[in-house]
This record gives sequence, structure tokens and C-alpha cells, in this order.
Amino acid sequence: VASDAPIEHLHVRRHNLSLVLRLVASEGPCSRASIAGITGLTRATVSSLIAELIDRGLVLELGLETDQRVGRPATLLELDGSKVVTLGVELNVGYTAVLANDLAGTTIYERRRPLMTSSSSVDDLVPVLRDEIRRAIEAVEATGRTVAGIGVAVPGIIDVSTGVVVFAPNLGWHNVPLLDRLVAQLGTRLPIIVDNEANMGAVAEHRVGVAAGADHLVYVLAANGVGSGVILNGSLFRGASGAAGEIGHTTVDPDGEMCSCGSRGCWETKVSLGALLAAAVPDLAAGLLDDRRLGPEAKVAMVAARARVDDPVALAGLHEFGRWVGIGLANIVDSLNPEVIVLSGLLPELAPWTMDHIDEEMRSHSLTESVEACRVVLSTLGFSAAALGCTLQASERLFLDPTLVPGQIRGTL
Ligand SMILES: [Zn+2]
Repeated sequence: VASDAPIEHLHVRRHNLSLVLRLVASEGPCSRASIAGITGLTRATVSSLIAELIDRGLVLELGLETDQRVGRPATLLELDGSKVVTLGVELNVGYTAVLANDLAGTTIYERRRPLMTSSSSVDDLVPVLRDEIRRAIEAVEATGRTVAGIGVAVPGIIDVSTGVVVFAPNLGWHNVPLLDRLVAQLGTRLPIIVDNEANMGAVAEHRVGVAAGADHLVYVLAANGVGSGVILNGSLFRGASGAAGEIGHTTVDPDGEMCSCGSRGCWETKVSLGALLAAAVPDLAAGLLDDRRLGPEAKVAMVAARARVDDPVALAGLHEFGRWVGIGLANIVDSLNPEVIVLSGLLPELAPWTMDHIDEEMRSHSLTESVEACRVVLSTLGFSAAALGCTLQASERLFLDPTLVPGQIRGTL
């Protein structure tokens, strides 16, 4: 049908732009001729695609190729990682974090702040996110760079196709259309992704963390609750409705405490900041948990400080906490047979007093073959892994569709 032709053409062009951009990123520096050779596209098409990618600030012309054996010297091209920036935004219990990285992974702007409101209502938190995003965009633009995509991480089950937060027990959110609310508040046409915080942490670990490149990776994030992000065969596994990895709500103690999800004895009633404080620093637990001025790191630091001076209650609490971590990891090992489990959130800081117990419990509750195939490592990305994963995921979207980057980004910074 004739009326479909322009749409078809646009689709093909987008696909070719993505193809050429990826090629320049992986093969560069390379010439237009070599791109034509690899892709089978005509020289004229490649030239036109490269002109567009240069205009969008994604590709850079270097000097002439000097060792050209045949024909005249050609201009070399490489990925320009410096002009286009993506934002990673994390909304969590008690704080927000914003990270702005360029496509080369250089951090241009970073800000973390406690939430000044004790409310976790959508009406109160969306304007906070809007202001944090606007502030970051202004800071990036002041450096001459352009923000071309945003990823937002939330601790909950997300429908990534609609940007709806289906259920976030620690925020008390049900069916919140976060993407629509943010678009309305920001008044922007920037592409925005909403995803789960542990999924984004897993993406960051898979791409740039200690276990980068591992094809079967489980990222375990213990903070206010405990969740996981699962990379299977090199890609994020979301399950049928986006809730895969909600390992914190698997049952480890059917007669145990009530969980925020409404069930009883979930893993996160044993492995969470609240459970840790209650077990290791019972005298401080209630006060610390409610203290909104302190971030999770500061609270975990109180536990570590007591453990460091061999406080017997803290050591016993950490022993018990480690046992429960190990029990959950055994379940992960036997269900998914990962090659690596990355421990994140409050777990790395506590490792000196918990790793032996974690390891012992994990080994005694899982199949020998599976546990021997699995490394347990500590994340080095800290609490900002989710925001980092968001910048990477938002960049990935630009690689899939370079037309999302505005044109006329030119010149040197
Ligand atoms: Zn639960």
C-alpha cells in the first residue's frame, strides 16, 4: 500500500542507523568503505547514515587513514561518546539518586539526597523526581552536552511496556502510571524507561561490574527488602508479567513474621535492613529504622562499628543474618544454576562477619554440582548500581533507535 511506504522507509532507515552505529562502536576507528563492505549497504547509503549520526553527535570523524593499501585515503570514524548523555534516576525508600553518564560511561553529574517528606504518596514523590531530573538536565546542558534519554528505577514490579508500577510494597504503590505522570510533569519528549531497581542493578553488573560478561548472573540486592535481577543467557529475564526475581517474597519460614506483601515468613522478613538492625543492634533498631536523615549505608555502618569491636550481640545477630542470606542463596543456586551471584546493597559492607556463615549455609542447602559451579562475589558498584544500570539501559535504547537523539549536535566540547 502506497501510504505505508514512508513508514516502511523510516523503519528501515532507523534499523540501518542502529546497525551502522553499533558497527562504528565495536569496529571503530573504521572507514565508510569498510562499513559498506561489512553491511552490504551501498557507499551512498552509508555516507548518508554517517552524516546523520554525526549530526546527532553520535559519531566523530578522525583524521585520514594512513595505511590505506588500495585507493585514496579514507576518513576514519569512531563512536563519539562525549556529547550525548543519559540519566539514571533511582527512587527508593527515603532517598533519590540521579546519575548522568555520557555514552562513554563518564559521569557528568551525580546527586543523591534523602527525601524530605515522610510520605511515599505518588503525588508527593513525582514532583520530587521531576525537580531532580530538571536539575540534572540543566547541569548537563550547562556543560554543552545533551540529555537524550532517562531511565528510572523503582523498588517494585514494573510493567516496562507501559511504565506502570504494578506493585511496590515498600512504597505502598499499586498500579501507579509513573511514566505518564513523569512525562506530564516534565513536559518533555525525552524517551523515559521505568524499570525495577534490581533489574537495573543486574544490567550494571552484567555490563561493567565485577562479574561483567557472565551469561548467567543473579544480582541480589538487600536493602529495605531483598530482591534480585536475573540475567539468563546474557539477557535480563523478566518472567511472564515482569515479576521474575522477586526472591524476597519466597517463603523460608511459613509460620514466621508478616511481610509487607501480605504473606508470612518471606525471605525479606529475615534479610532486610529492618531484620538486620533488630538482630544485630536491637537497642538502636527502632530509632535507626525511622531516622530519615540517615541513608542505608550510615545505618549499616552502625552495625559494622559494633561488630568491629566484637560486640557479642552484634556478632550473634550477624551470624544469624548470614545464615538466612545463605538459605536464600541456596534456593537461587538450585532454581537457576547461575555462574555468579553478585551480593549488593548492605551485604558487601557486612561481608567480613557474614560470608563464612553465608557460604556454609548455602553449601549445606544446595546441590553440590550447582554450588560448585557458582561464584559468590561482592558488588563494587555500591548503592548507585541501579542508577548506573538505568543510564546503560537508556543508552541501549538510543543504540536501538539513534533517531531518539536530537539532530544538530555539533562541534567540540
Ligand atoms: Zn513478602
